[in-house]
Amino acid sequence: MSSPLSGQFVIPTNREIGASSHSEPDNACTYLCGNSLGPMSKRSKALVEEELKVWATCAVTGHFTSHPHGRGWADFCDHITPPLAELKEVACMGTLTANLHLMMDSFYKPTPQRYKILCEAHAFPSDQATLAHGFDPANAVLEMSPRSGEYTLREEDILTMIEREGSSIALVIFAGVQYYTGQWFPMQSITRAAQAQGCICGWDLAHAVGNVPLSLHDWGIDFAVWCTYKYMNAGPGSIAGLFVHEKWKETELPKFAGWWGHDPATRFAMPPKFSPIEGAQGFQQSNPGILVAASLLGSLQVFKEVGMMQPLRERSLQLTGALESLLKKSQYFVPVEEASTRQSTKPAFTIITPDDPSGRGAQLSLLFLPSGVMNKVHDALNKRGVIGDERRPDVIRLAPAPLFNTLKDCEQGAMILESVFDEFI
Ligand SMILES: *Cc1c(COP(=O)(O)O)cnc(C)c1O
Repeated sequence: MSSPLSGQFVIPTNREIGASSHSEPDNACTYLCGNSLGPMSKRSKALVEEELKVWATCAVTGHFTSHPHGRGWADFCDHITPPLAELKEVACMGTLTANLHLMMDSFYKPTPQRYKILCEAHAFPSDQATLAHGFDPANAVLEMSPRSGEYTLREEDILTMIEREGSSIALVIFAGVQYYTGQWFPMQSITRAAQAQGCICGWDLAHAVGNVPLSLHDWGIDFAVWCTYKYMNAGPGSIAGLFVHEKWKETELPKFAGWWGHDPATRFAMPPKFSPIEGAQGFQQSNPGILVAASLLGSLQVFKEVGMMQPLRERSLQLTGALESLLKKSQYFVPVEEASTRQSTKPAFTIITPDDPSGRGAQLSLLFLPSGVMNKVHDALNKRGVIGDERRPDVIRLAPAPLFNTLKDCEQGAMILESVFDEFI
């Protein structure tokens, strides 16, 4: 299963990435880290270079119709937003953490009776910081942990918790795909259960966009935020996004307004009264960074070429399934049920990401045993050109991204992991 699109991306060579023990230094490395930072697409490079040229040759006139490629910077993001959801409900703006703060401010409305926030335990640190809006997090934030001996949350436990505590919960906010475990939460059923209890339901989609199919509007999600440098391959720190369901278009006006959220018809006339664009785009504050937006547009063109998420998801299921079965054949693999009670000091690993493909995206999280083994494995993998990423204390995440990874990458990853165990550990 080769990727028809792998040629569209620039993957670092073994030499470039510092894989000093690889016998073929000029071959592309085995990049299984698109969950953390997607590689550069050739389209992104070309579009960024085009915009640099427009800047050089048009300067301020590039904002409008004199833009030689018909992408005047004033409405550049209109070329980006449509593929993500309904135009009115998404905005291409800012960064994930800043957007999450904006959403918290608009949607977290605690009252003395209803003030709690329900989320997964060990959420991304940025998310934890933003959740402390107004109330003491020690009282207000309810964190759900897996059952003892388990690594991921069970849907039934989440739904029971929402039912039990719902009347005191103002906001349910989970990651769409959990960054550490790779668990894809049942987004639709959590949203439905939360709203049935009168809670707002929001999502951090950092690891979900470009990874799994999302129907934010149809699932009735209240709001969502994401970044674009992971599976969306838009480049380090690239422009982020947010979604606000159209049902909120009249009730949730942006408080931290900026001129870019103003009706484009009169934006440049700069009238004294703020008249926001209806919906998500009214939250825009500043004119967007065109170089990063161009990079995102380039990557999105590659997504569009494959027909967006449905075909990609099918390919993703095949690749991740293939990597999983190769890893499970390893003599060092132990079933996840045995991992938490294992006594042996012999080095081993398990997979903590759910077995059920509907409960995960591309990523598999490998947990190494006993403690201390992970770092050694990670270093040895890197030296041999397999790039995954470590998450302390004991996890290495490997993600075959369907846009550019191939079955060969999965085979290499599994084979080299085995040889690393054989030789080094
Ligand atoms: C990657 C990631 C972030 C990063 O936030 P930035 O504002 O883009 O730096 C935040 N939350 C989650 C869940 C992430 O996975």
